[in-house]
Amino acid sequence: MTGKDIRYWREKILETGIYLLDKGLVTGTWGNISVRISENLFAITPSGRNYRTIQPDDIVIVNASGETVEGHLSPSSELPLHLAVYAARPDIGGIVHTHSVFASACAVSRRAIPPIIEDLVQLAGGEISVAPYALPGTQQLADNAVHALASKFAVLLANHGVVACGKTLNEAMTAAELVEKAAQIFSWAQLLGGAVPLSEEDVAGMHSFYLEHYRQRQGG
Ligand SMILES: [Zn+2]
Repeated sequence: MTGKDIRYWREKILETGIYLLDKGLVTGTWGNISVRISENLFAITPSGRNYRTIQPDDIVIVNASGETVEGHLSPSSELPLHLAVYAARPDIGGIVHTHSVFASACAVSRRAIPPIIEDLVQLAGGEISVAPYALPGTQQLADNAVHALASKFAVLLANHGVVACGKTLNEAMTAAELVEKAAQIFSWAQLLGGAVPLSEEDVAGMHSFYLEHYRQRQGG
């Protein structure tokens, strides 16, 4: 691990934060982003800071126990959530947590997003479940999210928002966009008579194809 790697990921997180603001997936200082730099080193956005004004050095570097290794600000209050996902899922390398509107509409209705649209199904691996409610920043919320996430790549947090994950930070960002799009499609489809879910077999087939072939072509 070199200082250069840390600098790269700090800048990459800032880029991702600005992208999320531009896309309208987060508002103000809400939402948070993290990346797994190595087995015991993670970079995460600081608590309560705007992505448009923070600098690379404001991104906090922590270890798997949540202790700050480098950085002068407090890490996001959702650090326990990020660390719990990384601990449970070695295949996850990046996490984007948003409060995007349509996904949050599903989260407050406590309605899972069924496997209805191909792009999200391919990446996320099926229905986007709703983790039972717990107060933000708590270990209970982290535990609930990990349990509901299971082996998929996105989960809704009841009355709160979305946790989107990826093998890489880029993939996590794509997952955040796809969850929001699917939530919007689901909401509209309900008005048109109801969304029709894909079969379990088709969902499993598309997700395996994505993991084995498409993800490689995307360069991770
Ligand atoms: Zn949140």
